[in-house]
Amino acid sequence: MKYSRVLIKLSGEALAGDKSFGIDPEAIGQFGREIADVAASGLQLALVIGGGNIFRGMAASAKGMERAQADYMGMLATVMNALAVQDALEKLDCQTRVMTAFRMSEVAEPYIRRRAIRHLEKGRVVICAAGTGNPYFTTDSAATLRAMELKCEAIFKATKVDGVYDKDPAKFGDATKYADVTFSEVLQKRLGVMDSTAISMARDNELPIVVFNLFKEGNIRRVAHGETVGTIVQGG
Ligand code: UDP
Repeated sequence: MKYSRVLIKLSGEALAGDKSFGIDPEAIGQFGREIADVAASGLQLALVIGGGNIFRGMAASAKGMERAQADYMGMLATVMNALAVQDALEKLDCQTRVMTAFRMSEVAEPYIRRRAIRHLEKGRVVICAAGTGNPYFTTDSAATLRAMELKCEAIFKATKVDGVYDKDPAKFGDATKYADVTFSEVLQKRLGVMDSTAISMARDNELPIVVFNLFKEGNIRRVAHGETVGTIVQGG
């Protein structure tokens, strides 16, 4: 495999299946099998899971909620998603640990960096939940932060599109996909890979991001083997 330790970022909507809301355990099955499969092949894996399928702080604050309060609810939503993914992976005999950015010690371990690294070394998939633990951030920023502190070689950003395009492929028929693109270009052209906080942090720390379609069978394995799948964001 090309990598020995990576972080996979899944957005909350991946867990909703063909609905736009909630958790569909069957939807987790497909990519759960692939994650369990690459983990069994020896790839050390950390996961960060979003919460947008349940609650988004910014959307609730636009409707009048206090932003920080709403963001804590968003972070709690990511914990529900993390537990759902843990359940799916453990059914496939994949050892996991959920580690939360704020304490919920009856439910999951607190996130302690050195302990997380130990779990990774033992082949356990570490599911990092509750984002960064801070309001005003996103789980994309949490993914970048955790990838850096856990010394991951790349972030695999698994989405519903198959890479980064110059414009929205859902709206424009002539949109073209980048095979690779620099961080500065992503920021300047607002290419919507991740929010700008996450992109800047990845750029400053030279952490590559591979963007690919989660729902195409075998993609996680292909990306792990270094095949050209989707778009790689690196350099500049
Ligand atoms: N959130 C937060 N701090 C973090 C991570 C997440 O406040 O470090 C909140 C924020 O309200 C966000 C919600 O959790 O809207 C769900 O995360 P996100 O929107 O990143 O999920 P995704 O879009 O990946 O499903």
